[in-house]
Amino acid sequence: MRTPKVWRMVDVQVLLVLLLSLLASGQGSKRSADLIVNGMVVTMDGSRSIYDDGAVAIAGDTIVAVGPRVEIEAGYGARQTIDAPGKLVLPGFINGHTHVPMTLFRGLHDDVTLNDWLYKYIFPAEAKNVTEDFVRWGTRLAVAEQIRSGVTTFADMYYFEDAVAEETKAAGMRGVLGETFIDFPAPDNKSNAAMLAYTEKFLQKWQGDPLIHAAPAPHSIYTCSKKTLQDAAALARKYHAPILIHLSEMKKEWDDSLKNNGASPVQYLDKIGVLGPDVVGAHCIFVDEADRKILAQRNVGCVHNPSSNMMIASGVAPVPEMRAAGIAVGLGTDGPAGSNNDLDLMEEIDLVEKLAKITKMSPRALNAQAVVEMATIDGARALHMEKEIGSLEKGKKADLIVIGMDEPNAVPMYDVYAQVAYALKASDVETVIIGGRVVMRDHKLQTVDEAAAIAKAREYQKRIAASLGMQ
Ligand SMILES: [Zn+2]
Repeated sequence: MRTPKVWRMVDVQVLLVLLLSLLASGQGSKRSADLIVNGMVVTMDGSRSIYDDGAVAIAGDTIVAVGPRVEIEAGYGARQTIDAPGKLVLPGFINGHTHVPMTLFRGLHDDVTLNDWLYKYIFPAEAKNVTEDFVRWGTRLAVAEQIRSGVTTFADMYYFEDAVAEETKAAGMRGVLGETFIDFPAPDNKSNAAMLAYTEKFLQKWQGDPLIHAAPAPHSIYTCSKKTLQDAAALARKYHAPILIHLSEMKKEWDDSLKNNGASPVQYLDKIGVLGPDVVGAHCIFVDEADRKILAQRNVGCVHNPSSNMMIASGVAPVPEMRAAGIAVGLGTDGPAGSNNDLDLMEEIDLVEKLAKITKMSPRALNAQAVVEMATIDGARALHMEKEIGSLEKGKKADLIVIGMDEPNAVPMYDVYAQVAYALKASDVETVIIGGRVVMRDHKLQTVDEAAAIAKAREYQKRIAASLGMQ
């Protein structure tokens, strides 16, 4: 029997009323989200809010609410809960400068000058060994190591960067990944034309990806001609990509630039139109007052690498002065070969303020909160990603870490910033979430086959040593 049309309309109305009343009732008005509850939530938001008994609500890859636990639990029904009683919940750390595939060269040649290390050892070792397979395995090892120290985003400069991107994406990490431009035949691209073509394809492929930001990375002013630098910058600007470069990282670079360009490295790059709000300069050690003014005006992000600068004895970046000039200064490991040799960002957090203090002979040179800022929100600003990451705020990507506080080095705690800066270690990081996905839970990596990466690193060690006549 056919239902009269009028009855069907009534049915629809009844259903609508039922649905609305359900939504208006207590249970129905709760939105569902993944919740991290019971921890001390250190947001690094604009007012540096900290919630002693806090919670973070995540929907998809985004944070939808942060605040006191009772408020968040009243508004959100938990789809999945991570209980973090007595633990710290922080934004994921940002490693603003590294070369991840170089994990496979870790410890190959240390205790030499940067110039010797590059030209006598690393460039020849790379020519003989760096293939796409090398880059993939080096990246797998590096993502495992970085996740273990609470890194959720890293900026990289290397070759076969598309392979770095694929491995980074597979591990669920966020990356600003720069394909190297350099004025000699590189392991992947043998000419400047090939570098440009490879990088353009690389930029096109990753446009709009939620995790991967592809970028051109002209190595430095001492390895790239004016044309190479300008070509890389033009390509970046065509695709609204960042530009990664080593900037004023050694005294020789500064001296040669004055001699050859009649300007400091910063002023030379400004003169040829490369500096802008999309540039991320690694190191920025030799930057005088005039340079710092230009870097601030052009909104260039700078990344300080304390371990690397100390290990190669490059010099000390004027971090307090750069911060005072309004420059966004992030933190990086550099390395991992020849200039660190690990990817432990918590070690950099520990070293950065100690290096500043001893250099200035003042314990006030840089404080604990400033250092946590450099590892999080200022690191995001240095990468020009502060709208996306760097703090726990509604609308930002759900990149966060849970740090356990039950080890002897973690107690007692009077000041949370001091604890993170001076007492906690990478081994205290328990759980890591990137874009809402748990990539490490209770110290167990979820997205990388760590054992396979370690075994392969040992295999590569033999191969590399043999290629250099070390065996
Ligand atoms: Zn570097």
